Amino acid sequence: MVAQNAEERVVSLEPTVIDWLTKVRPMIIGDASVDSDRTLDVEDPATEQRIGAVALAGPELVERAVTSARDTFDQGGWRWMSSAARSRLILAAASLIERHAEELAQLDAIDGGVPIEYGRMSVADAVLTLEYAAGITARIAGQTVVPANHRGDLFQAQVIREPLGVVAQVVPWNLPFGMAVEKVALGLATANTMVLKPAEQTPLSALRLGELLLEAGIPPGVVNVVSGIGSEAGDALVRDARVDKVSFTGSTATGKAIVVAASGNLTPVSLELGGKSPFIVLGDADLDVAASAAADNIFTLSGQACTAPSRMFVQRAAVEEFVEKLSAAARRVVVGSPLDTRTTAGPLVSAVQRHRVAGYVDGALEDGATLACGGASGEGAGYFYAPTVLTGTTPRMTINREEVFGPVVTVTPFDTVDEVVGLANDTTYGLAAGVWTNDLSAVQRLTRDLQAGTVWVNTYNLFDPALPFGGYKQSGWGRETGMAAVDLYTQTKTVAAATNGRTSS
Ligand code: NAP
Ligand code: MG
Repeated sequence: MVAQNAEERVVSLEPTVIDWLTKVRPMIIGDASVDSDRTLDVEDPATEQRIGAVALAGPELVERAVTSARDTFDQGGWRWMSSAARSRLILAAASLIERHAEELAQLDAIDGGVPIEYGRMSVADAVLTLEYAAGITARIAGQTVVPANHRGDLFQAQVIREPLGVVAQVVPWNLPFGMAVEKVALGLATANTMVLKPAEQTPLSALRLGELLLEAGIPPGVVNVVSGIGSEAGDALVRDARVDKVSFTGSTATGKAIVVAASGNLTPVSLELGGKSPFIVLGDADLDVAASAAADNIFTLSGQACTAPSRMFVQRAAVEEFVEKLSAAARRVVVGSPLDTRTTAGPLVSAVQRHRVAGYVDGALEDGATLACGGASGEGAGYFYAPTVLTGTTPRMTINREEVFGPVVTVTPFDTVDEVVGLANDTTYGLAAGVWTNDLSAVQRLTRDLQAGTVWVNTYNLFDPALPFGGYKQSGWGRETGMAAVDLYTQTKTVAAATNGRTSS
C-alpha cells in the first residue's frame, strides 16, 4: 500500500456531484423531472453550509406522484412482466448503482454526515440487497390446495400471490441511501409500484436513486420520488386512498401517527421503528473484543442507528475493566469530516438533533449519572458530539428509557443471567440485542428470553438481505427483509374451480 498524505485521505467531491448540485434537484414522477414552486435547502451537517436545494412537494405533487404509481400499476405492464425480465431490470439497476457508488456515498456524506468509508460499504450493501431482490422475483409463488371440504366436492384450487399495488414508502435520515434501497428493492421484486419520500434532512441520494432506476430501464412510474416535509407531504401520501400499503422506517412516535393517518382507509402499514437495544457482556467474554465491538456499534454513525446498542449490561466482576476499555475506545473514535477516510464518526444530522442528544446527557447527569468520557459538543462548525459513556444510571432514568439517537451509552452492572434478562427486557422497544459470552447455556437462555427481533451472539449489526429484520414490541410491525418480507408486500387470491361438472357447493 502506498502511504497517503493528509490531503489524499480527504476525498474530493466527484465533478458529477458538484455539477449535479448546481441545479435545484427535481422530483421524479413517472418519466419526468418535476420542479416545484417551493424549494428546500440542503445543508451539510459537518460544515453547516448550504450545499444545494431540492424541489419541495406539497399535497398536489404528492397526489400527482400517487397518480403516476397508480396508473402504472393499473395499466398492468409492470405487474405482468415476466419474473425473469423484472429480475434482469433489477440487476441492471444494481450494476448501475455499483458504477455510481462513489458519487452516492459522497452524497450521503455531505447531506447526512455519513463517514465516507461507511457510506461506501452501505452502497455495496445496497447493491447486494438489489441482487437478492432480483433473485427472489422468480421464487414468489403460491400454492395448489387439495380439496378438504366435508361434502367431497371436486375442485382445483390455487392460492396466488399478487402484488398489493401502490406502496407509500417513508424513510428516515440515517443511512439515507441504504434505507431507500431496502424499501425499493422489495417493492421491485414483488411487482408493486412506489412513491418514496426521503427525510427532509437527506433528500439527495433518494432523488439520485430515482434517476438511476429510470436510466437502468425500470419503467417510468414504478418508482416515484417526492422530497417533502413529513407532516405535509408524508401525511398526504399515507392518507391517499389510492395507496394500498404504507411502509415506514423512522421513529416510534411518527410510526404511531402514520398508523392513525392510514387507518382512515384501513391501509395496511409495516413499521421499522426505533430501539433501545441491550448489549450484554458476561464475565467470561473477551473484554477487548467486546469493548471494541461495543464502541464500533454505538459510536459509528454517531449513534444514529436504529440498532445502536445504547444500554450495555456487564457482569459485575468485569464492569470496571469494561468501562475503562470502552472509554479508551471512545476516545480513539475519529470524530470529524465525513469526507475524511479516517473519520469513524461524523456529525449528528442537524442542530435540532444535537440539541436533543445534549439534553439527554445533561438530564442524565442531573439525575445522578456519572460521566466516564465525552459529554460535550464539538467546537466550531458542524453538529459534532463527543462519544459519551455514562455509568451510575438506573433503569428508570430517561436516558435508559428513550431512544437518544446519538453517540451515548450507559453501562450497568448485573450479577446473574436471570437478572439481566429482566433488565434487558425492561423497555418498550424490542429491535435488537447483543450477547457476548462463550457460556452455551447462557446463550441458550438469553437467545430464548430476550424480546428482540434480532439477537446477535458474539457479533453485532450483522445484516444480510436474506435475514428477516424488524422489531418486537414498539420497535415495529412486520419483517421487511428476507423472504418474510414477501408476505408484507403481496396479498393472496384464492381461485377455486369446480371440476366434474359441479358448479357450487
Ligand atoms: P422520523 O422523524 O420518524 O421521520 C422519518 C420519516 O417520516 C421522515 O421522512 C419524515 O419526514 C417522515 N414523517 C414525519 N412525520 C410524518 C407524518 N406525520 N406522516 C408521514 N411521514 C412523516 O424519524 P427520523 O428522526 O428521520 O429517523 C430516526 C428514527 O428512525 C429513529 O427512531 C430510528 O430508530 C428510526 N430508524 C429505524 C430503523 C429500523 O429499521 N427499525 C432504521 C433506521 C431508523 P421529515 O423528514 O420531513 O420529518
Ligand atoms: Mg442534509
